[in-house]
Amino acid sequence: AAKQTPHRPLARFDQELVAEEQARRQLRAELPQALRQGQFTLHYQAQYRLADQQLTGFESLIRWEHPLLGRVSPVQFIALAEQSGLILDLGTWILREACRQASEWSFPALNLSMAVNISPVQFSQPDFAELVQRVLEECGLPGSCLTLEVTEGLVQRNLEASAATSRRLRALGVRVALDDFGSGHSSLNVLNLFPLDILKIDRVFMADLLPGHPDFARARQLMSAMVTLAHTLGLQVVAEGVESLSQLGVLEELGCNGAQGYALAQPSAAPDVAFRLPALASAPSSETALP
Ligand code: C2E
Ligand code: MG
Ligand code: MG
Ligand code: MG
Repeated sequence: AAKQTPHRPLARFDQELVAEEQARRQLRAELPQALRQGQFTLHYQAQYRLADQQLTGFESLIRWEHPLLGRVSPVQFIALAEQSGLILDLGTWILREACRQASEWSFPALNLSMAVNISPVQFSQPDFAELVQRVLEECGLPGSCLTLEVTEGLVQRNLEASAATSRRLRALGVRVALDDFGSGHSSLNVLNLFPLDILKIDRVFMADLLPGHPDFARARQLMSAMVTLAHTLGLQVVAEGVESLSQLGVLEELGCNGAQGYALAQPSAAPDVAFRLPALASAPSSETALP
């Protein structure tokens, strides 16, 4: 451990790093019992089609209510679960819970799809497509009610095996989305090698996409180019992190297919979604389902 020396400014920093590593190790060790004890829940954020402003589905987002620390960010604990290997059990729980909920909410009748984030660690398991098929059968859901969101992290894994998995999933009618597009490293290569249905544009591209912003013209051109790229490859484009209605107007004008973000709906706990779902899903096409 680092010694406290006033002449060595790094010592304090070392200690902080050690403390942080200890906290991470502690949290990582707590994950299995958190899963057993039901400390995880899923929240759901609505997704909309821009052409007719209809609800198309929800993205499920995991939440951990830690008994002492309160809410811990998935960005933090998903990475820990990936390191410890618990991501496989946790990921299976997430998939089951999201599909069970989609079934309970009559997604097939409402023509809605549940988007589930899948860790590259789980997606690249050889039997992943079988797991998905089994869960869909258990829940009585057609594949078209499920969308799986993966990130470019897959590139660092076995891309060929993952591509085969993606083909098998798509044969079940499941859609595959590339999440956080544009923020990683090998985006274009992934598009070339990995069978996909949807490109989700990372929310970093939304920040400047505001009429009046000094870099608006450039941000709009970039967004326009990404929409064209996706459509040229036969993919749908969904923008995430849409925080204002003026961004929404720009996206619609550019031909972006879908949108998701705080301007449209916050991620909400299941009971809140269930409460609003009938109104959201049955809005007549002459009116807008958008809030
Ligand atoms: P993601 O899949 O890209 O999810 C979108 C994130 O953006 C979510 O953060 C969501 O709450 C947030 N968000 C939604 N609308 C807006 C907006 O308008 N503005 C801003 N600034 N943020 C918005 P969250 O829930 O904290 O999740 C963060 C990341 O953690 C996710 O990014 C995903 O990579 C991972 N994650 C979340 N749930 C799961 C899960 O069930 N399984 C796996 N493997 N990863 C998950
Ligand atoms: Mg996602
Ligand atoms: Mg994303
Ligand atoms: Mg993200």
